[in-house]
Amino acid sequence: MTLIEKLESGKRLTYEDGVSLYNLDLITLGKYASKIREEKHGRKTYYNVNRHINPTNICKDVCHFCAYSASRKNPQPYTLKHEEIMATVEQSVKNGIKEVHIVSAHNPDTGLEWYLEIFAKIKEKYPQLHVKALTAAEIHFLSEQYNKSHEDIINLMIQNGVDSMPGGGAEVFDEEVRKRICGGKVTSQQWLDIHKLWHEKGRQSNATMLFGHIESRAVRVDHMIRLRELQDLTGGFNAFIPLVYQKENNYLKVTDFPTANEILKTFAISRIMLDNIPHLKAYWVTSTIKLALIAQEFGANDLDGTIEKESINSAAGANSANGMKQKEFLELIESSRFIPVQRDSLYNEVD
Ligand code: SF4
Repeated sequence: MTLIEKLESGKRLTYEDGVSLYNLDLITLGKYASKIREEKHGRKTYYNVNRHINPTNICKDVCHFCAYSASRKNPQPYTLKHEEIMATVEQSVKNGIKEVHIVSAHNPDTGLEWYLEIFAKIKEKYPQLHVKALTAAEIHFLSEQYNKSHEDIINLMIQNGVDSMPGGGAEVFDEEVRKRICGGKVTSQQWLDIHKLWHEKGRQSNATMLFGHIESRAVRVDHMIRLRELQDLTGGFNAFIPLVYQKENNYLKVTDFPTANEILKTFAISRIMLDNIPHLKAYWVTSTIKLALIAQEFGANDLDGTIEKESINSAAGANSANGMKQKEFLELIESSRFIPVQRDSLYNEVD
């Protein structure tokens, strides 16, 4: 069977097939990715009214791609007090957010309680608000720092009101590349094991992939296959989020950045390969809003949300520091001839 015959029949593709997909032209890939998108979601594009909060940028790890953590490149350390976080949440709730998305650097000085108690405080005051918090990388850091198992930390998250896990910290799973870009933090297998544990508790999460730096196309496909295998076991991933590498203010010496063609191919191939993950998110913060809108024609059916404020990628050059207004978001999706649908964090449609 040729690759095109497999694509026509909807047969699951192998790792080798996935690598070969990159040899197809973008329009052909878009055709098959769009077909899958339309079968799953029609012309609907989901978005969320949410708020990102990044409570500290002090980090014990040194990922070479990172521009967010306080370091020689970004010498402005901060750690928010819980009262400051609560004041932000209060204002965002008034603005109509449905989700608060909290991820931090790996700060060894705050104590475990500082990380966990804020979730309980938010949940107590705003029980209707979905708390998405702590990446697998943060969970691993907390488990090592405070001598607890991954499962202990996960149980504490649940006790303190965390509803779902974000997909960060996955970067790329290939061990060689991982060693070069973020050696020292959660390993690929640990990242997958933590999400498996979370799913086994009946909870849902997302998965990311950081691409466009020093990884090869084959490494991206390997990343997708490892996620697909876990999803076959647990079914706990809601969305796959390919994150485009941001190039400023970091220690990774990348000179060759992906073209729009390469980025869109990667979206389309993600949609084709990850047949068991329902949603493909074009996170406009890293792809730019213009490319995210085009990605709707290449398999993406979710553009994330209004965000309000974003610190991690804007530190590395992304134009996302102040989020986006809901009205603007809706108009952009509509003008690209898709149907904007507000969703909650678990992809239930919101009136
Ligand atoms: S990516 Fe996260 S873990 Fe790595 S240095 Fe930056 S803040 Fe720390």
